[in-house]
Amino acid sequence: MNNVIIIRYGEIFLKGKNRDYFESLLIKNIKVALEDYDYKFVRTQGRYFIEDFSEDDGYEIMEHLKCVFGIYSLSYATKVPTNFEGDFKEVKESLKTLAKEINEENTILNPTFRVTVKRADKRIPMKSYEIAGELAGVILATVRFKVSLEKHDYEFMVDMRENGYSYVYSKVFMGAGGLPVGCSGKGMMLLSGGIDSPVAGYMMAKRGMKLFAVHFASPPYTSDKAKEKVIELKEIMEKYAGKIKLYVVPFTDIQMEIHKSCPSEFMITIMRRYMMRIATILAAKEDCKSIVTGESLGQVASQTVESMTCTGATTDLPIFRPLIGFDKEDIMTLAKKIGTFETSILPYEDCCTVFLPKSPAIKPRLAVVEKAEQAMWEVGEELMKKAIENVEII
Ligand code: ATP
Ligand code: MG
Repeated sequence: MNNVIIIRYGEIFLKGKNRDYFESLLIKNIKVALEDYDYKFVRTQGRYFIEDFSEDDGYEIMEHLKCVFGIYSLSYATKVPTNFEGDFKEVKESLKTLAKEINEENTILNPTFRVTVKRADKRIPMKSYEIAGELAGVILATVRFKVSLEKHDYEFMVDMRENGYSYVYSKVFMGAGGLPVGCSGKGMMLLSGGIDSPVAGYMMAKRGMKLFAVHFASPPYTSDKAKEKVIELKEIMEKYAGKIKLYVVPFTDIQMEIHKSCPSEFMITIMRRYMMRIATILAAKEDCKSIVTGESLGQVASQTVESMTCTGATTDLPIFRPLIGFDKEDIMTLAKKIGTFETSILPYEDCCTVFLPKSPAIKPRLAVVEKAEQAMWEVGEELMKKAIENVEII
């Protein structure tokens, strides 16, 4: 008897001619996610199998796989010889064990079940439903469940494969879905220490985007703790998105200059414009063809259509804001699901809470903002250069 994990992939199945490319990315990402474990990877038509791993690692391997985008669903199965000449002896044994396990956890009154057999091994002389009938007998003799083909509480699956082995299981776990990271190009994500931006990055990675990150820090107004928090967020995201290179940009001088030279009502808008400019320069270094932010329409003054028009005007790259139509509640739910929430709510200031004006412009006009910015144009160019020279790469 032998434990295996069955991996089913979803959407990439549909991609016709590109399928090989999508699959090779998915396989690469699976291997990266499992780099700390010993196992054998088996590729077949439509499914992969993780085999020959240590029993102790099984749970962790499964948890890692649940985070890999492009995987639709997963099952933990037992692999046994089909042995049809021996009356499916080993299959029956493993079904008995499985039925007992399920029975122990069962809380349903008068539970029902069915057995579903897939017979890919055409050497077996019986039909699938005949085998299923015979196997159901074993379960009936083991636990007090009733058969119900249409509606049932439990389904026992037996895949009898061409290689002479059967895979026996009952649970199907949902994978992370989406597309394999790397198939949708690269994006530079603006990663604050807040709740929203990690969720935004997660959503882009789910659609196959490889992420880079930039964080604007304002020492000494922001502490090392704030930076560590961002690094921790990046590390949580890496479970899903693979390795993320993070740029930490010293932003204090630029903020001071804006504070000094520009009208306070435009402070935030202009600050965001400098963030975008720097993000665009860093994006070019990494060949990123887009920028990602955690903005959500109307959430704060800097996230009105007018404000986003002003920030967007500083870059030629498309800016993706996957949370634009989300309520804060929904974003928080997702943040909890992906595991970033607890870190995001740690109380360390990020740069935007420093020098906040009392009444920021809610509907800034681009022409007016551009004019307001003129006062610091040349200094601004210098300061940007300096900030990029002093960037810290993590
Ligand atoms: P978040 O929860 O992501 O911080 P927020 O609700 O606090 O978002 P803002 O502070 O207006 O909203 O920030 C909007 C977006 O701008 C953020 O989602 C993020 O992408 C980017 N951003 C803000 N501050 C920073 C920063 N210090 N470094 C990098 N990106 C930032
Ligand atoms: Mg924020």
